Amino acid sequence: MIIVMRANASKSEIDAVSERVKAEGFDTSLVQGTERTIVCVLGDGRPIEQQQFNVMPGVESTTRVLKPFKLSSRIVSSEDSLLHLSNNTIVGSEVVTIIAGPCSVEDRTQMLETAHAVKEAGAQALRGGAFKPRSSPYSFQGLGEKGLQILAEAREETGLPIVTEVMSSEQVDLVTSYADILQIGARNMQNYELLRSVGRSKQPVLLKRGLMSTIEELLMSAEYILAEGNQRILLCERGIRTFEKYTRNTTDINAIPVLKDLTHLPIILDPSHGVGKWEYVLAVARAGVAAGADGLLVEVHHKPENALSDGAQSLKPERFAELVKQVRKVAASIGRS
Ligand code: PEP
Ligand code: MN
Repeated sequence: MIIVMRANASKSEIDAVSERVKAEGFDTSLVQGTERTIVCVLGDGRPIEQQQFNVMPGVESTTRVLKPFKLSSRIVSSEDSLLHLSNNTIVGSEVVTIIAGPCSVEDRTQMLETAHAVKEAGAQALRGGAFKPRSSPYSFQGLGEKGLQILAEAREETGLPIVTEVMSSEQVDLVTSYADILQIGARNMQNYELLRSVGRSKQPVLLKRGLMSTIEELLMSAEYILAEGNQRILLCERGIRTFEKYTRNTTDINAIPVLKDLTHLPIILDPSHGVGKWEYVLAVARAGVAAGADGLLVEVHHKPENALSDGAQSLKPERFAELVKQVRKVAASIGRS
């Protein structure tokens, strides 16, 4: 259930409602809208008597939320959530945000060269993995903290905020001390301990959809982060596993309008992992923006043929520049920029 407070409700009225909810054995989460506060009742499905709240001072209305996801749902917030980044980028605004960079941070030269190139082409944030979740334990696993230091240097030089993956709860403090946005990779979408940890960190989170996960499972994972009081979440569609073999994954374009309908959280599309071949990344990126994605996450490498991970799906800087150019036109055609 959600309890919508009146626009002029006082703090003591909001506190009284929260206390009453807790006295009934439920938890609360407060969502501060532009005009009013919403008290969300978090429970295990047991019913709570609704009428008692309707008559409390400062309460405007109460609504039962029948969907399993609550804090992420449009019922809690019909307005789109915005994520403000350090360089004045606002993810979720009418400007489509482009996050780009290599799959992995490999060395200083590679990272800095790519960072400058993507900035030049128009990217608003930088990606690069320092801790890499690889299918084989014998593949390059990332540079770890050294990689984070290189990313911080790239941010220093370009002013671009950094998105990088955190793979375990133990790494959250370390990665938070360097990154602007913590990435939860597809393989960890249902690592509930990790989701709780990044929720407690209050750092912005880019949550990627699991390889075999439904849209509802993605939203339920976002709930874990939201329930810890962290509302700064970007959801990322990165392709799901199907029977198709010509592409690495199948980009679920459907997920974009469906998620926009179900949740107020911004939606990012990762066409690089979605299709897995650089030749098709541009077309899928255009489709994603046309479908309403709030941003793109694109892998770019200055020498894809030498990349230590995901070279086959990485764009050379000049092709990425072309992507930005084309995506601008698509964005303009739907009233965005
Ligand atoms: C990545 O972004 O490089 C990555 C490993 O992504 P995913 O978790 O979607 O496979
Ligand atoms: Mn990758």
